[in-house]
Amino acid sequence: MKYYDKLVFELSRPGRKGYELPADNYGNNALQSLPADLLRRDEAQLPEVSELDVVRHYTNLSMKNFGVDTGFYPLGSCTMKYNPKINEEVAADPAFTAIHPLQDAKSTQGALELYYNLQRALSEIAGLHEFTLNPYAGAHGELTGLMVMRAYHIANGDEKRTKVIVPDSAHGTNPASAMVAGLQVVEVKSKPNGSIDVEDLKPLLDDTVAGIMMTNPNTLGMFETEIMEIASLVHEAGGLLYYDGANLNPLLGKVRPGDMGFDIMHINLHKTFSTPHGGGGPGSGPVGVVEKLARFLPNPKVVKNADGSFGVSTGSESLGSVSTFFGNFGVMMRAYAYILTLGKENIRNVGPLATLNANYIKESLKDDYLLPIEGACKHEFVFDGLKDKSTGVTTLNVAKRLLDYGFHAPTIYFPLLFHESMMIEPTETESLETLDEFIEVMHKVAREARETPDAVKDAPLTTLVRKLDETGAAKNPVLTYRQYLAGESK
Ligand SMILES: *Cc1c(COP(=O)(O)O)cnc(C)c1O
Repeated sequence: MKYYDKLVFELSRPGRKGYELPADNYGNNALQSLPADLLRRDEAQLPEVSELDVVRHYTNLSMKNFGVDTGFYPLGSCTMKYNPKINEEVAADPAFTAIHPLQDAKSTQGALELYYNLQRALSEIAGLHEFTLNPYAGAHGELTGLMVMRAYHIANGDEKRTKVIVPDSAHGTNPASAMVAGLQVVEVKSKPNGSIDVEDLKPLLDDTVAGIMMTNPNTLGMFETEIMEIASLVHEAGGLLYYDGANLNPLLGKVRPGDMGFDIMHINLHKTFSTPHGGGGPGSGPVGVVEKLARFLPNPKVVKNADGSFGVSTGSESLGSVSTFFGNFGVMMRAYAYILTLGKENIRNVGPLATLNANYIKESLKDDYLLPIEGACKHEFVFDGLKDKSTGVTTLNVAKRLLDYGFHAPTIYFPLLFHESMMIEPTETESLETLDEFIEVMHKVAREARETPDAVKDAPLTTLVRKLDETGAAKNPVLTYRQYLAGESK
């Protein structure tokens, strides 16, 4: 074991320094210009470390992490595709990063043009009239979209429409967003193949329905073939259709949510349009709407003036503002760079390749893993654990064992429709060799489960931190390293 493989929590040594700021330029003068009541009363408890300590600490930490730049990351429902590095360079361009949202429109024409053009590109891709790029994430987009839905019904004098229909297979953010928006959630059942049960939907459609939230392909990666019928039933009842765009990847360039009858949608730019994510950020959840809903979109809006210049406007019927200024601009820059890099011709290949890769893995592994829903999937699919349940090896055990072989685990125990869910999404960016390696390792784990099940249950065996006590971590959380050290010395 190398010395840096140990978990070292305390590197601070009293008096050790990395940098010192010149006292006159930044120290004393700056302090004098601050009002006394804003000054810190106690010394900040910062670690005292040298520059080299800091560099080694963070570099070593980064090597302990698993990311899409380290290895295959088939985390279903998350679209962990590879993000081309050129997008990072674009997003770091000081011409954009050094501007301030309070500058006047004249001095930020380039940024406004980028916002406007990206908004137009997403409208084209989605088949919707207009987008706001202001929301910060998918869930924030859901909330914004539902607020648009509510504003529309209220503008029509239809105050009683407060019911949102959500399938039992939906992502947890869907019902949560509806609740936060002050709407009531009503569940519609899925059929055994995961698609919405139209017969169960019909009796729910009355004059209190605000709309339905769906995703297509659905949470099991299957295309909802009855979507046109569902759309006309909901519309006839006076409701609107909300599309959760987290599963847009397989449709790119092939099918547009607007053409399927959806009125409102969000897109997770950090999933479908190339921003490194995980660990909670950064994200962006643009919301697109059909023409009749555009006036309700949040402020501020970016508009193109008659003379071709770009400006900022605020609509009087807008639901208000949902973000500080225009949202996460860096994520928009990555998305715009990604869309322009692929172009119209190549963006068409994203969906079919993601779909091909998912089906290739599914068909290659279904002899060892239980496939509850047969047939062609889209960009992801779900296994219900190992086929052979007699060994007692669970989905959690398989997921941990994959870490030993250098693969990130799939999404596990979601969706809730199956006991041992294992949701695999390879994305379009993986090579055939990587897919084959993953398939080989998954077969190997299945073999180990039969031959040496106890070893698999002990996995991971080769990682720095072995299997975590998740219940203990939830019941007795140790939230700071000082607390950890105190506990250790007891
Ligand atoms: C990721 C995801 C969301 C939420 O998006 P965030 O950007 O994480 O807020 C919603 N629905 C589905 C199906 C998702 O996969």
